[in-house]
Amino acid sequence: MKRVVLLGSTGSIGTSTLKVADDLPEHLRIVALAAGNNVELLREQVQRYQPLAVSVADPGKAAALRSTLPMPVHSGVEGLVKLATLPEADIVLIAIVGTAGLQPALAAIRAGKDIAIASKEILVMAGETVMAEARRHGVRVLAVDSEHSAIFQCLDGKPPESVRRLWLTASGGPFRNTPASEFPAITVERALQHPSWVMGRKITIDSATLFNKGLEMIEARWLFDIPMERVGVLVHPQSVIHSMVEFVDGSILAQLSTPDMCLPIQYALTYPVRLPSQRVQTDFPKIGTLTFEEPDLERFPALRLARQAGDIGGTLPAVLNAANEVAVSAFCERRINFPQITETVARTMEAHTVCAHPDLETILAADAWARATAAEVTRRLQK
Ligand code: NDP
Repeated sequence: MKRVVLLGSTGSIGTSTLKVADDLPEHLRIVALAAGNNVELLREQVQRYQPLAVSVADPGKAAALRSTLPMPVHSGVEGLVKLATLPEADIVLIAIVGTAGLQPALAAIRAGKDIAIASKEILVMAGETVMAEARRHGVRVLAVDSEHSAIFQCLDGKPPESVRRLWLTASGGPFRNTPASEFPAITVERALQHPSWVMGRKITIDSATLFNKGLEMIEARWLFDIPMERVGVLVHPQSVIHSMVEFVDGSILAQLSTPDMCLPIQYALTYPVRLPSQRVQTDFPKIGTLTFEEPDLERFPALRLARQAGDIGGTLPAVLNAANEVAVSAFCERRINFPQITETVARTMEAHTVCAHPDLETILAADAWARATAAEVTRRLQK
């Protein structure tokens, strides 16, 4: 029985994680739940899973919940850290959108817990620090992202020297075949229609700009200790091959299934064991064809920016991540257009003075600087 703390329980990954827990009641027990603002759904989840503790973002909402729930109710980042270090927990699954997952991730590692990471922002911002801390404390950092789960499964413990290249697959998003001339007219509604995955808002927009794949390249670099130049991206519109490892002898292993996040979530939570589940079924005759394309860096410069940020390292990936978050919000609020998301990130990166091997404080300062700078860039673009 693994005892699981779930941070971000009301989101897309969070609710899928609870489905996996429902499938495997003998093997997984939810011991803590954290949400942002969706207190109604959290309340339903508390009724069903009876956790030992809960947390919400807002202290006012926590106070209201406290009067009606029997278990401790925490709030803010301190609340997330409290749950992440719960003595009764074996593993902490972090599925909070944005950067709020970083401090609880480090706290969990330092408390000797394995972590399962959906929130790619954590490794993008502080991959070097997080992986070093995990090695120091002898805990596992398990991937929930389907691409990284695929690579983890294909690597199966082989060292970085045995890898020629990691191949991250990308669906290409809803604008794979849209000419660049039409990009300024792309609406929020169109950008939110992903062809193969149902996900939260932010990651869906990131999949349309391909920033999602860019963030994943940096995430892979740290998770698997492979330099950026050996992390490649391949557009694979069917999203059946979740990623591949090309080994030094030329052999390539891929992991396949119909797209369903429950599969990588289950693998992260039950690792190293594989447990039976009927949830994911792959029908090859129905899929028919698997195709591959080179990503178009002209129409999707996000990939180039991410490679640059990953190559240079230091505080630059945190700056890319924060600027992108600000730009995506501005796009969702219809203050900037679709290509201006990438433009905002590029301009913010250009204005940044990189600090190499930053500590956590420096990373958080770079994050704050990038948010302020990107907000200013979006204001200027609006005019
Ligand atoms: P959603 O927007 O669906 O969910 C986000 C979750 O985070 C919600 O539970 C939200 O709570 C919670 N949250 C937000 N801010 C806070 C906070 N300050 N404190 C506590 N909880 C907070 O996002 P997704 O589930 O799609 O994505 C989550 C992460 O997983 C992202 O980093 C994404 O990149 C990554 N990921 C997602 C995949 C997917 O298929 N969805 C695939 C791979 C990775 P509330 O709703 O209550 O406000």
